[in-house]
Amino acid sequence: MTDTESLEEYLAFIRHQDRETGSFLEIAVRPGAAGAAGATGDPAEHPAGESPEGSPPPPPRLPLPLAVKDNIAVRGYRLTCGSSMLENLVSPYTATAVERLERAGARVVGKTNLDEFGMGSATENTPLGRTVNPWNHDFVAGGSSGGSAAAVAQQLVPVALGSDTGGSIRQPAAFCGVYGLKPTYGTVSRYGLVAYASSLEVIGVLGADIGTVARTYRLMSGVDGMDHSSVDPPPDGGSPDPVRTVGVLRGDLGLTPEVARNYAETEQVLQARGYRIKPVELTTLEYVVPAYYTIATAEASANLARYNGVRYGYRPDYAENPEELVRKARSEAFGREVKLRILLGTYVLRSGFQDQYYTQAQKIRTLIRRELEQIYREVDVILMPVFPTQAFPRADAEGAPAFARLDEFQQKVADRFTCTANLAALPALTVPTGLARGLPLGMQLMGPAFSEERLFAVAEDLAREMPIQFPRSSISWPEWRAAGGGS
Ligand code: GLN
Repeated sequence: MTDTESLEEYLAFIRHQDRETGSFLEIAVRPGAAGAAGATGDPAEHPAGESPEGSPPPPPRLPLPLAVKDNIAVRGYRLTCGSSMLENLVSPYTATAVERLERAGARVVGKTNLDEFGMGSATENTPLGRTVNPWNHDFVAGGSSGGSAAAVAQQLVPVALGSDTGGSIRQPAAFCGVYGLKPTYGTVSRYGLVAYASSLEVIGVLGADIGTVARTYRLMSGVDGMDHSSVDPPPDGGSPDPVRTVGVLRGDLGLTPEVARNYAETEQVLQARGYRIKPVELTTLEYVVPAYYTIATAEASANLARYNGVRYGYRPDYAENPEELVRKARSEAFGREVKLRILLGTYVLRSGFQDQYYTQAQKIRTLIRRELEQIYREVDVILMPVFPTQAFPRADAEGAPAFARLDEFQQKVADRFTCTANLAALPALTVPTGLARGLPLGMQLMGPAFSEERLFAVAEDLAREMPIQFPRSSISWPEWRAAGGGS
């Protein structure tokens, strides 16, 4: 079978399997992408990191299919950001993170759905596509990287890229039952990531297997001349010592009974594997959400000012003058949540009032960072919930239980466990930790800056007791092929 034939077959597999879940906004392999030169044979069949015998050792390879969240640029693919504003935009360039993976042999096979510009927790804030949770279609996949999480959970791709500004990789990873890494701020170049809140966000990885997530991160991280905030992670991961002590939060964290039980259970598994458990207190936790939404909306209002309908993006049919053109473009093409956040951001930044909100939020941010620095003198990593609930019902799902629903405000308040890592610029990794009521559970490991390797090590340990599970409706590519390709 030729490379082209097997790729076509692979894309047909994705298209077929994604009909109901809607993980992807675009499914395609673009000829001429950097990876085309590197990939050989069937990209879905090569185990990651395998290299032929002989010397000298070749550079690390990642000959795998890759899905990319649609706010990350890949040349020749659309770059909609889940917004009518950019619905018809085709990217003229490729993000550094993607380019590095393509050079290692990865093949982009499509772009995944998201909340508009990354603003949301359910992949429901977008007019461009509907993504549902692969475990139960009445429930959300989480957000904003819901498409990437659902694609991995359905085994459509072994690895997918997402972005995390306030939890957008880790929360959908928990909702869909996959691994999700938010790296240390700056270790992955943001060049080619469409900006939402630049001081908080980073490109990261969702995957079905912790080894693949780790390899992907290693390949795409490192300083990049195109992003002045990018840095090289220290070679020993900041600390060569293995993880011994795990911090856990005590007290009423506002978790559902299922999540609370799972938190205790995960702690016990770690203890049984020889980790020392130490209770820690995060006194700043209650300030995380106000600080996050003040800073994120302030940065969003500045970052999204560029969408004015003039050079690219949505253009209104008719306008009397330039002012009207801009006003019409923005009011017609931005969704409700995006407008709300631009208004909020403009409000907290308005002249003469910065001290009341924005400066206060920055001070809280410093306090959070300092408190965590103190805590990491006593523990190596913190085990904490990702979200107080499991996946919640979709707004338009009639059959789902009313008690489990979360309105838009509750969804924001629930970001308290994830936003901490963004405000403090720290790495955090969602690990799948089981099932309850037929839906996945996930916990996160958060470590000091540059401690990704330690997070991977603990996750690998946990995976022995709590292996990843896939929904019954999912089927892997080799299984699908063996079964005759959906026929
Ligand atoms: N729920 C967060 C928000 O809506 C997630 C954002 C993100 O990480 N992109 O802002």
